[in-house]
Amino acid sequence: MTEPKRGIVLGGGWAGMLAAHVLARHLESVTVVERDVLPDGPRHRKGSPQARHVHVLWSSGARIVDELLPGTIDRLLGAGARRVGFHEDLVTLTSHGWQHRFPPRQYAIMCTRPFLDWIVRDQILAAGRISVRSRAEILDLAGDGKRVAGVRVRDMDTGALETLEADLVVDASGRGSRLRHWLSSLELPPVEEDIVDAGIAYATRVFRAPPGATAGFPAVNVAADHRVREPGRFGVVYPQEDGTWMVTLSCTRGAGLPTHDDDFLPYAQTLRHPLVADLSHPRRAR
Ligand SMILES: Cc1cc2nc3c(=O)[nH]c(=O)nc-3n(C[C@H](O)[C@H](O)[C@H](O)COP(=O)(O)OP(=O)(O)OC[C@H]3O[C@@H](n4cnc5c(N)ncnc54)[C@H](O)[C@@H]3O)c2cc1C
Repeated sequence: MTEPKRGIVLGGGWAGMLAAHVLARHLESVTVVERDVLPDGPRHRKGSPQARHVHVLWSSGARIVDELLPGTIDRLLGAGARRVGFHEDLVTLTSHGWQHRFPPRQYAIMCTRPFLDWIVRDQILAAGRISVRSRAEILDLAGDGKRVAGVRVRDMDTGALETLEADLVVDASGRGSRLRHWLSSLELPPVEEDIVDAGIAYATRVFRAPPGATAGFPAVNVAADHRVREPGRFGVVYPQEDGTWMVTLSCTRGAGLPTHDDDFLPYAQTLRHPLVADLSHPRRAR
């Protein structure tokens, strides 16, 4: 096999951008194919609906990102993200009571997901070695049972169909990936699939932090008690880059979740401790 020269990455989310960044060190050209227009700022987009809930970047991931893209963590922190040390900056109610707060070893970077994605994407694209084909819907793979030779896309503005040729295709199109289907249409044997359905659901609100609590205030985590044989309910209050607190309530299958604004606080009050509800009240930011 000859050395691959052209790479295509399917999906311009977090995994796709980092994969493209690494591939660009080895290939002559790398194109990211993405359905959305990737925003030039920390804004939500359709292809990343989970971004409205809390996301944290844990320390080992942060170290890897900083190795791949030196200076990223300083840039996130400089622009307002919080570095929350475990266990000195996190108040956690576990099944066995409040967790002790210890000197730092591991930590998390807390900020909104659009902010994180944008800073990482901006660093990667600024180098100018990767092109993004946006508003392009991936339809299937080109090639045959021996070799994937590219990807077929539909331009979402004109409807035009096109085959983008590549020596190497990386699928980073996320949880909705149709890779199994695409491979079977190349007449390859079925791909075995393991499905782990955690059955976890989320509801999120963003609150203004009270004056004086924007810096240094701990992140809060009230976990479910796994010993109680009923669906779990848990909640977190995590500081974000813009001085707000993101409150995410979660449950395992069967516990239900608030779907209306008016039900959010009463639901928070049903957690094992009232701290999340007390902090969520009443300074709604958006
Ligand atoms: C509520 C919630 C909270 C989470 N919290 C955390 C957390 O705290 N920390 C953490 O590390 N992870 C967390 N995760 C997981 C994290 O969100 C995902 O693992 C991560 O987003 C996966 O990134 P990705 O780039 O693989 O996929 P995605 O972010 O899903 O990106 C896939 C991209 O592919 C594009 N795409 C898909 N299909 C097509 C197509 N046919 N044509 C063109 N483009 C297409 C989409 O538009 C999208 O941009 C959480 C997830 C949820 C749901």
